[in-house]
Amino acid sequence: PIAPNLNWLTQRAIQTCDRTALIFADRVWSYAEMEAEAIQIARNLSEQGIGYGCRVGILMENHGNYIFLIYALAKLGSIAVLLNTRLSAKELNWQMQDSATKFLIYDRRTEEKACEVIERFQTGDQTEGLKLIEIEAVKQADRDSQQRISQDFIPDIDLESIQAIIYTSGTTGKPKGVQLTYGNHFHSAIASAQNLDTDTRDNWLVCLPLFHVGGLSIIWRSVLDGSTITLEPRFDLERVIQAIAMGKITLISLVPTMLTRILDRLSQSDVSMQIEEWRKLRGILLGGAAPNQQLLERCLELKLPIMPTYGMTETASQIATLSPQDVMCKRGSVGQPLQCSQVRIVSIDFPEIELPIGEIGQILVKGTNVMAGYVNSSITETLRDGWLHTGDLGYVDSEGFLYVVSRRTDLIISGGENIYPAELEEILMQHPAIQDACVVGVSDREWGQIVVAVLVTTEFLTVTEIREFCLSRDLAKYKLPKAIHRVDRLPKTASGKLARHKVLESLS
Ligand code: ATP
Ligand code: MG
Repeated sequence: PIAPNLNWLTQRAIQTCDRTALIFADRVWSYAEMEAEAIQIARNLSEQGIGYGCRVGILMENHGNYIFLIYALAKLGSIAVLLNTRLSAKELNWQMQDSATKFLIYDRRTEEKACEVIERFQTGDQTEGLKLIEIEAVKQADRDSQQRISQDFIPDIDLESIQAIIYTSGTTGKPKGVQLTYGNHFHSAIASAQNLDTDTRDNWLVCLPLFHVGGLSIIWRSVLDGSTITLEPRFDLERVIQAIAMGKITLISLVPTMLTRILDRLSQSDVSMQIEEWRKLRGILLGGAAPNQQLLERCLELKLPIMPTYGMTETASQIATLSPQDVMCKRGSVGQPLQCSQVRIVSIDFPEIELPIGEIGQILVKGTNVMAGYVNSSITETLRDGWLHTGDLGYVDSEGFLYVVSRRTDLIISGGENIYPAELEEILMQHPAIQDACVVGVSDREWGQIVVAVLVTTEFLTVTEIREFCLSRDLAKYKLPKAIHRVDRLPKTASGKLARHKVLESLS
C-alpha cells in the first residue's frame, strides 16, 4: 500500500477519483466530488479559526456531511471529537470539557441539544467560550471559490497525529476519552482489507452511527480500499431490508440486536424471499457486544455469511474476526487476531503471568491499532508497555482462535468459584416469560458474592421456578441465582449496552 507518511487520503482520492465513494439519500459522490466537498468545508472552517490541533466536537446524525467533515478536519490537521447524539446535554458538556473541545459542529437535528450544551458552558466554570457552527452554514459559505482536487490542503499530519477522540460506551463506569491516531486507522484498515479481501467493488451499508468507532472505521477502510459507502441516516429496519434487496451491497456491519430484528422481519412471508439477497452478501459483520448463541444458530440455519468480530474503541476497529466458514466449527469464538494485533491471555489477578492455551484470563492486546492513550492521562492503568489491558476475560484455543467470556468487572466469585454472568443470562433469556436479564454479584458475608438475577418478565416467576429452568438447561448448581428482582426495564448506555454498574447501584 501507500507509504504511511504520505497524505494517503488525498493520494487515494486522486487515484480513485471516478469511483463511487458515497451514496446517501439517493445522491452519489465520486471520490473526486467527495474530495471537493471536503476541501470546501476545510476552507470555510479554516476561516472560522479552526486549524492544526484544534479539537472540534461533532454532534451530528449520519449524513454525507459527516463524512466530508471528517475528511475536512483531516485536511486541517484538527482533531474530531465524536459525540454521541443520544447523550444528554449534561453528559455532552462533561465530555467536551474533559477533551477541551473549543468548537461544536451540529446539524439541524441536533441544534436544540447543541444550544443546551452551550448554555451549560456559559454558566459553568469554563471562562473561554465555545463556538457553535452549523454544518449547512459552513457548506453555504464561499460557494464560488474554485473547487478542484489540489494539494493545497495536504495536512501536516503523520501517523502519530491524533485523528479523533471518541468516548467509550460507559458500560463499566464513566466513559473514557480514547485518542485514536491516523496510524491506528491506517493499520487497522489495511489489516481489515486483507482479512475481508475488500476492493473497489465492495459496497458497505453503514447503518451504525458514525460517532462510534464501528462507523468511523468504515470511513477509513473504504478510502483505503477504494470501496463505496452506502450511508443510512440511522438503523431503519425496512430501509435496510430494502437496501439489501437491491442487490448492490456486499458488506454490512451490525450490532447483534439489529440482526435479531432483521431476522424476525425476514421470517415474515412478505419479505421472506429476500433472505436470498442476504445469503449473497460477502459478510455480515457483527460487533459491539457478544451475539447470543441462539442468534448464531439461526444464522447458521439460514446459511448467512455471518462474521462475529471483537474490538473496542481503544483498538480503532476489530482485533479479531471470525470468517463465515469458521462460525460452525469454532462456535462462540470471535476469530483469530488480525494482522495488526497481538493477543495475550494473562492471569486475572497477576497480569504479569501469561496463561497457557485454554485457560481463562484477561485479554491483553498490542498492536499498531491500539490507541495513543486516553485524553485524561490519569487513567494510565490500561496501557502498560504497549499492552492494552482490555478488562475482558477470555481464552485462546490451540489454533489461536479467541473466545471472549466476560468482562473482568462482571465476573462473580461465589464461594471461590468463578461465575460468568453472560453464560447465565444466555440461559435465562431462553425462558419464554423472560424478556431481558442481567446477572450481578452482590456482596455476601458467607459467600463473598451471591448471584442475583434482575429480570424483565411477562409473568410472575419464583426463584425456584427459575432455578429449575436453569438446571433443566444443564447449568451447574453453584451458578444458579440465589435471588431475583423484577424490574420494568434494565438500564442501558447510550450505545444500547446493558449498564451493569447501574443495575448494581440500584440493588444497594
Ligand atoms: P466502557 O469501556 O466505558 O466501560 P465499553 O467497553 O462497552 O464501555 P466500547 O469500546 O464501546 O465500550 O465496547 C468495547 C467492549 O465491548 C469490549 O471491551 C467488550 O467487552 C465488548 N465486546 C465487543 N465485541 C464483543 C464480542 N464479540 N464479544 C463479547 N464482548 C464484546
Ligand atoms: Mg471498555
